[in-house]
Amino acid sequence: MEPKIETTDVVVVGSGAAGLFCALNLPPQLKLRLITKDEAMNSNSYLAQGGIATLKSQDDYDAYFEDTLRAGHYENSIESVEIMIKSSQGIIGDLLGYGVDFAHDENGPSYTREGAHSTPRILHHDDITGQEITSKLLEAVGRCHIDEFMTMVDIIAKDNICRGIVAVDRQKNIHIIYAKAVVFATGGIGGLFRFSTNFRHITGNALAIAIDHDIVLKDISYIQIHPTALYTRDEGRRFLISESVRGEGGILLNAAGERFVDELQPRDVVTEAIKEQMAKDNSDHVYLSLRNLDKDAIRPRFPNIYQRCLEEGYDLLYQDIPVTPAQHYFMGGIKTDLEARTSMQNLYAVGEAGCNGVHGANRLASNSLLESLVFAKRAAQLIADSLGGIEQKFPAIDVSRYHDLTDLELKHKQLIMDEIKKRDRDFYDKWCRDEA
Ligand SMILES: Cc1cc2nc3c(=O)[nH]c(=O)nc-3n(C[C@H](O)[C@H](O)[C@H](O)COP(=O)(O)OP(=O)(O)OC[C@H]3O[C@@H](n4cnc5c(N)ncnc54)[C@H](O)[C@@H]3O)c2cc1C
Repeated sequence: MEPKIETTDVVVVGSGAAGLFCALNLPPQLKLRLITKDEAMNSNSYLAQGGIATLKSQDDYDAYFEDTLRAGHYENSIESVEIMIKSSQGIIGDLLGYGVDFAHDENGPSYTREGAHSTPRILHHDDITGQEITSKLLEAVGRCHIDEFMTMVDIIAKDNICRGIVAVDRQKNIHIIYAKAVVFATGGIGGLFRFSTNFRHITGNALAIAIDHDIVLKDISYIQIHPTALYTRDEGRRFLISESVRGEGGILLNAAGERFVDELQPRDVVTEAIKEQMAKDNSDHVYLSLRNLDKDAIRPRFPNIYQRCLEEGYDLLYQDIPVTPAQHYFMGGIKTDLEARTSMQNLYAVGEAGCNGVHGANRLASNSLLESLVFAKRAAQLIADSLGGIEQKFPAIDVSRYHDLTDLELKHKQLIMDEIKKRDRDFYDKWCRDEA
């Protein structure tokens, strides 16, 4: 079948928080193509439970900055962290403008706390903050403008300048979309792991494409394993038990019912402690207990988590739940500057797909939605300012290698796993070898 050839100003790939917010911040007169691999709602942003961190007052600036760096093992980009924190109040204002509703009482916003935050500074909407944010952003974008079930399989690039993308739709038609600017907002790599809290279809396609085109990457072995996913013997996505459950006082117990770690340490520290404990107990899980918390407060604070655990046969009010670590977040990615520019001209990467160094070696809880929004907006602003000077070109492209999507996914996985192995053999052996 002949490919469909299209021309636009900007292509945004992905409909999570980063892609939607980038699209919303582009000037309406630009021709925009927003495509996404699955249903528009099926993004990791939608799954976010805990919330979105923000600078609640100037007094908290130093502590927020230090918490972010401490969690990131001081490998963070200082400039990125400064920009993220300083932009946070403006971003929250934007979200409120789109109708996002955060928990509050008569005195103002009600902030919650998560692991490694020294104070409550996280805005949330029950335990479905991501759903609240993405559904309001989707409403603003207008679902009809999003091409669902359209998978980017490659970029069109010549002389290190990006000229558009190649995508495949649900009917397996190939689309060549020429554009002056392309924004990768394709999220992380969780779908490559057997146990992950991420959607299965989020498999790092943009990262593999970047590797294939020699685009510069950063920190790609910095992959966060979340300490507490609900343990189940079933295959598929693992249900996350948000950090805020521990933030509100939930405790971790070993097989003998004893505490074995300070639950509010950074995620990587708690994950390691759980892994060691599982080995000592010769078990594939430990337990999370909320039995010491006020029973009347649990259900209203964690309605989604409570319900999901009940469906799995655990009543959080009275039973400890089995939990285990699972792949959760990708700190590394395609290297970007502070405006989300990659090493290839006219190509941007925002959200989890990109890496501006804000998270360092380990992400502080609830910084990722914020980071996605802050830098997606900056990318949109730069694209708006620079697009006029870009001459559109239409290099020819051979599409014969894009017909077999399953084969392409396998090749992408191989490219990514090989690259992680090259960067950090220890991490690969510990967390990736069984997945490759
Ligand atoms: C269970 C869970 C809970 C979380 N809780 C929190 C939290 O409380 N606070 C917080 O700050 N962060 C949280 N996070 C992390 C956060 O939600 C995401 O990391 C962040 O929102 C990333 O947004 P994104 O837009 O970059 O990617 P995503 O939201 O993952 O969106 C990626 C998009 O790209 C599309 N896509 C992928 N590949 C292709 C392709 N080849 N072609 C076309 N489209 C493609 C996908 O379909 C999807 O629409 C959580 C993550 C998970 C999984």
